[in-house]
Amino acid sequence: MSTGLDTPLRRSIRVEGVVQGVGFRPFAYRLAVRLGLSGRVWNEPGGVGIEVEGDQASLDAFLEELRRSPPPGARIRRLSSEPRPPRATSGFAIEPSSSAAGAAPSISPDLPTCSACLREVLDPADRRAGYAFAACASCGPRFTVIDAAPYDRERTSMAAFPLCLPCRAEYEDPADRRFHAESTACPDCGPRLFLSPRGGADPLAEAARLLREGSILAVKGLGGFHLACDAGHEKAVQELRRRKGRDEKPFALLVTDLAAARRICDLTAAEEELLGSAARPIVLARRRADAKVAPAVAPGNPRLGLLLPYTPLHHLLARAGPLVLTSGNFSEEPIAYDEAALESIGTIADFFLTHDRAIRSRCDDSVAKVVDGQPLVLRRSRGYAPGPLRLPLPCPKPTLALGGALKSVFALGRGDEAILSHHLGDLENYEGYRAYSASIEHYERLFRFSPELLVHDLHPDYPSTRYALDRGGIPRLGVQHHHAHMAGCMAENGLAGPVIGVTFDGTGCGTDGAVWGGEFLVGDYRAFRRAGRFEYVPLPGGEQAIREPWRMAAAYLLRAGLGLGLLEGRVPARSLEIVRLQVERGLNAPLTSSCGRLFDGVAALLGLRDRVSYEAQAAMELEWLAETSAARGHYPVELAREGETWTVGVCSIVAGVAEDIGRRSAKADVARRFHSTLVEAIRRVCARVREEWGLDRVVLSGGVFANGILLSEASAALAADGFRAYRHRFLPPNDGGLCLGQLAVAAALGG
Ligand code: ZN
Ligand code: ZN
Ligand code: FE
Repeated sequence: MSTGLDTPLRRSIRVEGVVQGVGFRPFAYRLAVRLGLSGRVWNEPGGVGIEVEGDQASLDAFLEELRRSPPPGARIRRLSSEPRPPRATSGFAIEPSSSAAGAAPSISPDLPTCSACLREVLDPADRRAGYAFAACASCGPRFTVIDAAPYDRERTSMAAFPLCLPCRAEYEDPADRRFHAESTACPDCGPRLFLSPRGGADPLAEAARLLREGSILAVKGLGGFHLACDAGHEKAVQELRRRKGRDEKPFALLVTDLAAARRICDLTAAEEELLGSAARPIVLARRRADAKVAPAVAPGNPRLGLLLPYTPLHHLLARAGPLVLTSGNFSEEPIAYDEAALESIGTIADFFLTHDRAIRSRCDDSVAKVVDGQPLVLRRSRGYAPGPLRLPLPCPKPTLALGGALKSVFALGRGDEAILSHHLGDLENYEGYRAYSASIEHYERLFRFSPELLVHDLHPDYPSTRYALDRGGIPRLGVQHHHAHMAGCMAENGLAGPVIGVTFDGTGCGTDGAVWGGEFLVGDYRAFRRAGRFEYVPLPGGEQAIREPWRMAAAYLLRAGLGLGLLEGRVPARSLEIVRLQVERGLNAPLTSSCGRLFDGVAALLGLRDRVSYEAQAAMELEWLAETSAARGHYPVELAREGETWTVGVCSIVAGVAEDIGRRSAKADVARRFHSTLVEAIRRVCARVREEWGLDRVVLSGGVFANGILLSEASAALAADGFRAYRHRFLPPNDGGLCLGQLAVAAALGG
């Protein structure tokens, strides 16, 4: 503190990143006042500006605190500070937000209820006791309620709720944590809950009772309607599956807190941290044997998806016991979010727990897991979007990257910032595509963005590619699918080229007309060469082979010259015969190097599954099985050379699997050895590529690297061989991450 002898010093500070709409100015105010500093704080384009004056020690403490403990939703990207001549000012002022036109707005993701607001909601004596919409400057809805930037109440769906006197007093008091809290509200002035078709004075208590009785409720949350039921009520969960048209895909569980989460799953420290992180994603964790959860929640799945409450509504609702909480939609359609929900999901829900605040942007929950102590986000959506990611090099002009076709996400690139959209799902259905194009419009308005370049996948039939073609008058750039995966992983890790890109997934359009998916690329953002791949096999029946893995098993068996004996008896002879003809004559059987299909084929050989009810189901089941085995060894890996490309033979692998099955080895051991075989293939090809190209950095990308065993063991094996291996953390390895790679490629090519 000041001794009175020090000459006062003044510093001008600029804080960049997501620092608006997260309570940063009141935070700076309180900190300055506490340290006895004078000055002012204001919002400016791209960040917050601060001037502070006082003695050296207090200024140092101020900077240190800014860096070390900013408000929970803040993401500081850069903090710079310069000396200024002192002005002998007194007092500290918060200046109102300047809505500088033309500046690039930054919009905060929705923020989870803070502990101060939660305490009020749970305190019977507080005026916000039991109120489902309490929020303050550091918490509450953001992205899902915004119409336009900058973030001020009149440009959000909170505009419909004029503040009452006590709320206004809080809103205008710089010392209050609701100072300029645009989404603040109370039971007198804010949004209200309704239960329909049955009314009642206390919708929450009534909802809890209905849930306990086994009813299915549609609950309007932040980014859309969820369907909820009691997670311990087997009949209710089964009924939800039946009505939603979802056979086996696991449901997520909402629990009150970490203690409740620990009763359901064995959690590591990293998993607990991810569960409680500001994004509040659904975290996939290992279920406990004694978890009191209905079997229908996640049939046969050793993992459960857990979710902690992120709004007061969810905190209050969660007390009805662990609840199944799943997107309010029919399988694969976009989440319902407005009045039309009554029609679209009215046949699934018995009751609606809804409210009168409009959702401006629908936004599904995010999904993540932990691999090797690090987060691996599989769906980057509510809580993350539309927070920016950093591009390794700036886009020369505003660029819109359109992503893929499944797990769709698009991205706006401006300067070195990429704004990734929320998860938009499957574009192949009409509603999905409509939501996608409407969201692009919404983001362009929100971020005052008008693209001068469109980047799309090379697949001519992806709806995202067609979107680019239909939007005339703007230059376009096509980027190969696996190049985009590789570039996305490089960008996330801040790598410049060149690298080895191990990109394994289900499907991606190759440059030679084949379906790629087991690729070893070398290159940088600008270009790539195909240094390795899996051997081509026919994909009998095209798309049908993806839904019915037995077809892939047949293709691999025929390729390996093993005949179809393993499948006889399980699959009608006539179907086998058709597949044999397709393969032999190349009819409706495009060639593929897909690693995802190899997983499917091996799963089918093991008799795990001849048909899948959701994407990558067979591959995941193979992973779960492998987790239960400690079997060592791998099947033979044979490399061959075609031009400049190493090919990994599939025959020796399939023959090894078939032989192991013939010996009646445990299925889990076969699954385990199959994983080790892929790790061996990665080691061997990378070693050859390093010799030839002199590269020792490897990025691991593509949807197959959502597989924790493969990601973990490939990383370890590569490190042991002297490579530097890089993986995804907050950018999904699957097609949800394509758009960032597309932007990076476009930026490198000079737009
Ligand atoms: Zn709060
Ligand atoms: Zn009020
Ligand atoms: Fe892909």
